[in-house]
Amino acid sequence: MTGYTCKSCGGPSPIGVGYAITNPTQEDQHASEDRIACDCGHSITAAGWAVFNVAVTQILGLYSTEDRATEAAREFGSCSFAYRLSADEAARISQTH
Ligand SMILES: [Zn+2]
Repeated sequence: MTGYTCKSCGGPSPIGVGYAITNPTQEDQHASEDRIACDCGHSITAAGWAVFNVAVTQILGLYSTEDRATEAAREFGSCSFAYRLSADEAARISQTH
């Protein structure tokens, strides 16, 4: 298990960003994996992943690990796929989500 909190707002932050949680639960891990930025926007991952629908018109989810993103894409179905965001894209998307 692994999980992180934001140094600024104290909320869940992406994997590898902010303070590591002591004795994290599976919920802590998922809270960190299922985001590319914390709620205040201070903690943002440089290695974010998005799952898009096949027409790339909709973001189905945002993730901070490739494993979690590919797993989510499988759950969303064959018409979705995981895409690695650049740091710029992650910053832009986190401002609108
Ligand atoms: Zn924060």
